[in-house]
This record gives sequence, structure tokens and C-alpha cells, in this order.
Amino acid sequence: MVMKKTIILTALLGALVLVSYGQSVTLYNTNIVDVENGKIIPGMTVSVKDGIITKIAKAKKKIKRNQTDYTGAYLMPGLIDSHTHWGNFTMTPEYMRDMAESYIADGVTTVRDAGGDVRIVKRYEAKLDSGNIVEPSVYTSSFWAGPKYYGGRARQDTRGYETVNAPWSQEITDSTSLEHLEKIIIEAKVYGCTGLKLYNDISYDMLKKIVPLCHKHGVKPWGHFAIFPATAMDVVKAGVETVSHTYLIDGKEGFTSEFKAKCFSQAEIERRDSIFREMARLGTILDATIKICMTNNMEFAARYTNEAYRAGVKIAAGTDWVYMEGDRMKSAFLDELDLLADSCGMSIPDVLRAATTVGAEIIGQAGRLGVIRKGAEADLLVLKSNPLESLKALRQRIALYLDGKEVK
Ligand SMILES: [Zn+2]
Repeated sequence: MVMKKTIILTALLGALVLVSYGQSVTLYNTNIVDVENGKIIPGMTVSVKDGIITKIAKAKKKIKRNQTDYTGAYLMPGLIDSHTHWGNFTMTPEYMRDMAESYIADGVTTVRDAGGDVRIVKRYEAKLDSGNIVEPSVYTSSFWAGPKYYGGRARQDTRGYETVNAPWSQEITDSTSLEHLEKIIIEAKVYGCTGLKLYNDISYDMLKKIVPLCHKHGVKPWGHFAIFPATAMDVVKAGVETVSHTYLIDGKEGFTSEFKAKCFSQAEIERRDSIFREMARLGTILDATIKICMTNNMEFAARYTNEAYRAGVKIAAGTDWVYMEGDRMKSAFLDELDLLADSCGMSIPDVLRAATTVGAEIIGQAGRLGVIRKGAEADLLVLKSNPLESLKALRQRIALYLDGKEVK
């Protein structure tokens, strides 16, 4: 579901005035960061109408005093966090507002919700809209798992709903019929979910049935790297388009200390390489989630991600969770990008692609998000310096536009 960003202002007399559309803005004389090609297009003027980029042209020599002059600045697409969680029953509206603000502070304008109670995401969006607060666009998932995952567990993400299963959360088994799978994929889509989060206790045989149905109905098949009993290679071979968490590539065995001692043996490196090469061949995207590994003593995940990168796997930037810094909530997104460069050995252009074009591809919005081009959404960052030279540029922002409107 695309949670469309609108700002509703409570006007005098309590009337609600919708001010999202019908607005135009022109950003003069800026250097466009072409993330796809890893280069700067200098001296361009970008016109935006109704939240969409309508024209990109060579800048005029003279800029009038009241025009938005970004001479010397760098314009890049808003960032996409490919792994977040929004709809959790413990989250208060204040928590979600703080979380939204923390992502916006990092320049994140779009997020993928990797499973949760989508009712809460919808409610949250309505709350934020009514308060003139900005938030990233949220693309939601329907969360699927088998009986071993759900067994004995209270289903928090569907509580209060008319049935135990819901369009955003389904228990399936090896005997779930093809007809039922198709029915619940359609339900997820109608409810607004962009993809399925295939999580746990799903077999390879079931994945092979689910993925083609996803493609048939235009729903993205997303999953964990290993969906025990399905292994990482099973998940890739079944055609899951995006796999999350590099650290899960070893399956359950990877959590034992015996395995940790041999995980960089030649045999293990070759085993991983065969999976990474298959991913590169199929175009499977790896949502690596490095920051969360580094803070949980799983530094090996950065080395694995470097192996994937060198094998030609497309890597996305996802954080999984927010952090507290003192009493302030903090998005981990810019930290994640630094780690992809510094600990995983990715080039800066590839890190910027992980944060833009690759993220857009995951949610089925390639060409519309994560790029600056005619027809794309005008989620834009204005930076003081060139991010292709240093990722520090992302921390020195001049302005942020959401749907073509400047956010303060
Ligand atoms: Zn997660």
C-alpha cells in the first residue's frame, strides 16, 4: 500500500484544507546526482508540479531574487530504507511519530515495512496526516509463516480481527491448497500490501508455488534469507526477489559456535559463493541489514556481504529497527550506508544505489522513486556537497522535499 503523503492543515474554524496538490516548485541551477550512472549533471533546473518532476533543463544564467537558487548545491533522490517495521501493537502514536521524524531526519522519504500489523500503519498515517507531520511513504507486507512459527504463540498482529488470519498476516502449511494461496495473495493485494514477507517454516515446495502466484497478481515475493526449513539456496532458487539479513545464509547451523569457527573455511566460502552467484544470475536483491549485525556481535555478516558484493549481487540498504540515542529516537539509515561502504567494501556510487534505485526496485517503483527524472516523484534531498565523493554529504542537508513540498 502506498501511504500517500498528504499534509492536512487544520485551518481556522476547524475546517480541514488539503494542500498536497496543485503546487509547483522550480529548483534552479543545481547539480543533479545521477545515482544510476554514478555521475553529476551540473547546472540543471528541475521543475515539479503536483509532486512529480515535470521538466529537467539546463539552468538559466540569471536567477531572479525570489527564485529557489541552489547554485553549488547537489540534488539527489530521497532515500529508501528497504527494511523497517512500523505496525507493532506496542507502538503508540507518539512512538510512530518520533520514528517517522527520525527517518525524515536521515533523508529517508520511503520505507518498506517488512511485516507487522498493517492496520496500525494505516491508523498511524491517518494520525500523522491530521497533525501536519511529515512521514516517509510506507510500502507494506503481508507476513506469512508456518505452524512451527505460530505454534503456541499469541497472534498479536491480528488480535481483535474477525479471524486469526488476516490479509496482512497468514499462517500456511504444506497442505495449503493452490486455490487458497491465490485467494490470500489477492486479499493481501486488495488490502494494499505491496509484497509478501515469507518469514519462517515454509518449505521449498511451497515457495515454488507461492512465487509464481505473486508474479501473476503483481505482488512482490520477499523473504528472509533462510525460511527454515527452506535454505538460503532454496529461497533464491524459488525466485524470491529480495532476501533479508545476510547473517541468515548459514541457516540454523549458523547460530552454533562450532559453525562460527569454520565459517571462513574454503568450503564455506565456496558454498556461500555458489548462492551469491545464483543471486547475481537471477537478479535477487540482498537486503543486508549490517548495522543490526554490528550491534549484535555478528561482524561476520559484513564479510559475507562483501563476498556477495564481489560476486555481483545487488545490495539494498535496510536497517530493520530504530535506535535510542539518549532519549531521542534515531534512524540507523545513514549509519547503515557508512557500514556498507566501510565494513562491506562497497563503492560510494553502489551505496547510493543501494539507498535509492535498488530500494525502488524492491517495492516495484523503479523509475518512479530513487531517481531524478521526468515523471519521477519529487522526493528530493538538497545537499551542500557531492555525495559521490563522500557519504558525509548526506549528513549536511540544505533542504528536503516530499512530493515536491519543502519539509522544514
Ligand atoms: Zn525485520
